[in-house]
Formats: sequence, structure tokens, C-alpha cells
Amino acid sequence: MDKNINEVIGDLKSYLEYLKGMGITSLPLSENIPEKVIRSEILTLAEVRKELGDCKRCKLHRTRRTIVFGEGNENATLMFIGEGPGYDEDVQGRPFVGKAGQLLTKIIESINLPREEVYIANIIKCRPPQNRNPEPDEIQSCNPFLMNQIRVIQPRIICALGTFSAQTLLKTDTKISALRGKLFDLEGIKVIPTYHPAFLLRNPERKREVWEDMKKIAELIKNPTLMTEL
Ligand code: SF4
Repeated sequence: MDKNINEVIGDLKSYLEYLKGMGITSLPLSENIPEKVIRSEILTLAEVRKELGDCKRCKLHRTRRTIVFGEGNENATLMFIGEGPGYDEDVQGRPFVGKAGQLLTKIIESINLPREEVYIANIIKCRPPQNRNPEPDEIQSCNPFLMNQIRVIQPRIICALGTFSAQTLLKTDTKISALRGKLFDLEGIKVIPTYHPAFLLRNPERKREVWEDMKKIAELIKNPTLMTEL
């Protein structure tokens, strides 16, 4: 089916953002490079990390201690994407290592997966001062690198943790309470939003809903044919 002009513009915008994320700031003229070829240029997470470098693309670089790139299995079936680093993550340079991180580890293990088997990243890679919410320009600057991580890993399922993760990945402003537990599509990858572990620490009565979402994820991993049916 032919694409309409808005879809073509949307595709072009994503492509340019992708190239910007790779550090490419000029384009060869009249080159119609198929998307597959572009993606095959991203070979490893190490290359994405190298492109990120000592990133100063947004103002968060001024206050961060370390860039928290992400960690885990480069071939993960399941990827978790949170909001951004907090104090402990900023100190250690690793995602989800504080109290919320310990809870996330338990959540992952609740479906019989070791933490090392999944990949964990955040919408932004540097800690916002006083753990404030990430701002739109920060999310926009950081997003191409997260998208490249996703394209390298090609997980079967992404679990979006909390409002900022779900709303950024799904390009929506719908509340997390309305998104959680539902299945969405991101470049052919299934996305299931659920509550952020930090939210669960403050609202333990909502853990049951996350448990329901995790059971759904476990089911989809066990039986991938369900994904096409949903
Ligand atoms: S948050 Fe992302 S874009 Fe901003 S400085 Fe850190 S790595 Fe760069």
C-alpha cells in the first residue's frame, strides 16, 4: 500500500534522527539507501556506545557523574526500559542498582529469568539534578541512542517501566495506568508498559498489576505465536 505524505515525512524524520544519533551530520545526494542496509551498519552495542562518546548533547552532561548506557545480554529476548539514572546509578554507572533496581531484579526473577539474561536501559542516560523528571529536549537528544540499542538487540519484547518510558516509546501522552498490561508495536517489537519499580516502592498495593503484566510477558516468551494473535 502506498504511504501518505505524513508517513513519508515521519519515516524521513526518523531516518535523519537515526543518522544524527550515529554522528552523521551530512547526507550523500540522490542515495536511496534501503533501511535494511542502514540497520546492518549497526553491528554491536559497543559501536553505539562509541558513537555516544563523552556525550554533551544535552544539559544533563553538566551535572552527571557517569553516563549510564545500559547493561545485559546483547541478544536478549526481553528488554526493560526505565526512565533515567538516580543517585546510585549515577555513582555506579549501571542501570537499576538502587532500591528500585533491587525490586526490578526480583520482578525479572519472578518469571524465572536471571537478570543477566535481559537487557536494561533507560530513556535518558544521565541523572537529572535532584532526580527531577526528564525534560523533552533531553529525551529527544538521548532517544536516537536508545533506539539504536533496541535495533542492535532486537528483543522480542520491551517492557516499558513507568510513564516516561511508555509515553516516549509509544509517542503518546496517555497515562501509564491506561497503557499498562496492553500490547503495542515499536518497529515490529512488542512493547508492554507496566509500573516503574520506584512507583511500586511507594505504592506496594499496585504490585499485583505488575505481576499480571509479567505473567503476560512470560507467556509471550514461552509462546511467541500468541504475539501475532494479540
Ligand atoms: S542524557 Fe543522553 S543526550 Fe543528554 S548528555 Fe546524557 S547521554 Fe547525552
